[in-house]
Amino acid sequence: MSLLVVGSVAYDSVQTPAGSRDVSLGGSATYFSIAASYFSPVSLVAVIGDDFMPEHVELLESHAVDVSGLERREGKTFRWSGVYSTEDLNERETLDTQLNVFAEFKPVLTDQQRATEYLFLANIDPQLQLEVLGQMSPRPKLVALDSMNFWIEGARSHLEDIVGAVDLVFMDEGEARAFAGEENLAQAASRIHSVGPRIVVIKRGEHGVLVSNGGSLFALPAFILDRVVDPTGAGDSFAGGFMGMLAATGDLTDGGIRRAAVLGSVIGSFTVQDFSADRLAALSHDEITDRFAAFERLTGFAGLETGGGLPQRE
Ligand code: AMP
Repeated sequence: MSLLVVGSVAYDSVQTPAGSRDVSLGGSATYFSIAASYFSPVSLVAVIGDDFMPEHVELLESHAVDVSGLERREGKTFRWSGVYSTEDLNERETLDTQLNVFAEFKPVLTDQQRATEYLFLANIDPQLQLEVLGQMSPRPKLVALDSMNFWIEGARSHLEDIVGAVDLVFMDEGEARAFAGEENLAQAASRIHSVGPRIVVIKRGEHGVLVSNGGSLFALPAFILDRVVDPTGAGDSFAGGFMGMLAATGDLTDGGIRRAAVLGSVIGSFTVQDFSADRLAALSHDEITDRFAAFERLTGFAGLETGGGLPQRE
């Protein structure tokens, strides 16, 4: 089954405690589509400027990402720059966001794209997300969305409309709290459910992820790494692994959703090991499988309660 993503393709400039990178490949849809491409066919809908380098289109093509929906326009590619706190890599400040060619982007989907069964509305203008969803026919089996503080603060009412129209929402914990107006994450998830989505995935950076699927909660730590180089794109790569797994298996049971969260975490953990999509784009299936197994050893405690149950003071 196939997967369609609409989102940003960007040039990012980032400063992290490990160093800095100027004007390197980024964008929510870029990370997402490379991550998902390891598991499922993926089609990308986005816009790039005339400054976008051919080698970056080739990189997407080398992952079999369908780039027929990647429109080239006169002007500059979307640009974002941010700086990470030296004390806490979960803390990031956006220095600049330049929409550039995205400001005028109005995608018209092909019949084949409209009929895709899994749709991911990556972090981009909520109005654009609504327009894309409105073109889908029939309604996809699963529609998921990601967003970011930029839109929560700047396009709140459109964001509420699109959140109300999707099945699954990915937000990071600060965004979930801001959107829901709730500090407690379980309460924030409930508030987001009340707007519409039946699955709420709250990304917590190096603290892992909380999945609320109807009445079922699932919490997972992040894979433990001894060095994080650049957290940019971790959330989109997580979503790519997650949605790639769902599109590949079609398994939307609670177990299937949990497995997707594990795979998303595995993929996101690779992204942060280098700048831009350098590590993410160079993965082998064996590396993914090995890290999945290592993650299972890191987190697994099923069965530890054997031998007559837990001790109890007489
Ligand atoms: P993440 O670290 O997963 O939250 O995603 C970071 C990516 O999102 C970067 O590569 C940026 O290019 C992209 N990005 C940042 N701000 C925006 C925005 N306002 N709209 C769309 N994409 C953005």
